Amino acid sequence: MLAEIVENKPINKVLYSLWVKVEEAYKLPLPGQFFLLYIDNVFLGRPLTPVDVSKTHIRFIYIVKGRGTLYLSGLTEGKIRIEGPFGKGIVPEKDKILLIAGGVGIAPLIYLMRFHESKHTDLLYGVKNVSELLSESEYMYYLNNSLIITEDGSKGKKGLVTHYIKEEDYDEFFVCGPLGMLKTIQQMDFKKPVYLFLEDMMGCAQGLCNGCAVKSVNGGYIRTCIKGPVFETREIIL
Ligand SMILES: Cc1cc2nc3c(=O)[nH]c(=O)nc-3n(C[C@H](O)[C@H](O)[C@H](O)COP(=O)(O)OP(=O)(O)OC[C@H]3O[C@@H](n4cnc5c(N)ncnc54)[C@H](O)[C@@H]3O)c2cc1C
Repeated sequence: MLAEIVENKPINKVLYSLWVKVEEAYKLPLPGQFFLLYIDNVFLGRPLTPVDVSKTHIRFIYIVKGRGTLYLSGLTEGKIRIEGPFGKGIVPEKDKILLIAGGVGIAPLIYLMRFHESKHTDLLYGVKNVSELLSESEYMYYLNNSLIITEDGSKGKKGLVTHYIKEEDYDEFFVCGPLGMLKTIQQMDFKKPVYLFLEDMMGCAQGLCNGCAVKSVNGGYIRTCIKGPVFETREIIL
C-alpha cells in the first residue's frame, strides 16, 4: 500500500520518528508484527515495527543503521510503499509483566504496553548514554514503574538492563534489544515465560529466502519472518 510521509524527524541523537498516512485499509497489527518499508535506493523492504497505529496512520521509531535507513531519514515528504503487517504477534496474558528494552528495542514494547493497559506493566529501559533515550512522556502513561539504565551512568542506574531483572516479581517477560542482550537473557535460565523480539537480519520477509533463519531447539532452523519475530526463549538457540 502507498503511504504519505506526514512527518519524519530526529527525536534525539540516534532515534527518528516517522509518521505515515496510509491510503487504503489495512489490518491493524498485533504487538511484534512488523511492516516492510520499500525505500527507493535499496532492493529489499526494510522491516520496522509500529509504535502507534490508527486506521489511517502508522508511526515508527527507527535508528539509522545502513544504506536504507540513512536514505529513509532524509525523506521529509512524498509517498512510500509499505506492506504488512507480517509475522506473528503476541498479546500479554499474565497480570504482572516486565518489559526489557535495549536501545531502539523500546519501539515494539511501547506498542505492546497498550495491550496490557489495565494490568501491571513495568519497564527496564537500557541505553548506552542519556542522549539515546526516548522521552518518558512517550510511554509512561501505560506503565506502573520504569527504570532507566545507562551504560555510562549518565541517567538512572549505571550498567546493563540484565543486572536489574527480578524474576520473582513478574509472571511474564517481553524483551527487545541487541542480539548480545537477548543472548544474555537466554543464558539466565528463567523459570517463567520470556518472549524475545528478534530484530536482526531479514531478507524477503515472506518465508522464501531463509535470510532470517534462527536455530530451533528441536533441530533445524525456523524462519523469523513467518514463525516469529517473537519467540519464547526456550524455542530457539541464538
Ligand atoms: C522484525 C523486525 C523489526 C524491526 N523493527 C525495527 C524498529 O522498529 N526500529 C528500528 O530502528 N529497527 C528495526 N529493525 C531493524 C531494521 O530493520 C534494520 O536496522 C534495517 O533493516 C537496516 O537497514 P539498512 O538498509 O539501514 O541497513 P543495512 O545494514 O545496509 O541493510 C540491512 C538489510 O540488508 C539485507 N541483508 C543483508 N544481509 C542479509 C542476509 N544475510 N540475509 C538477509 N538479508 C540481508 C536485509 O534486507 C537487511 O534488512 C527491525 C528488524 C526486524 C527483523
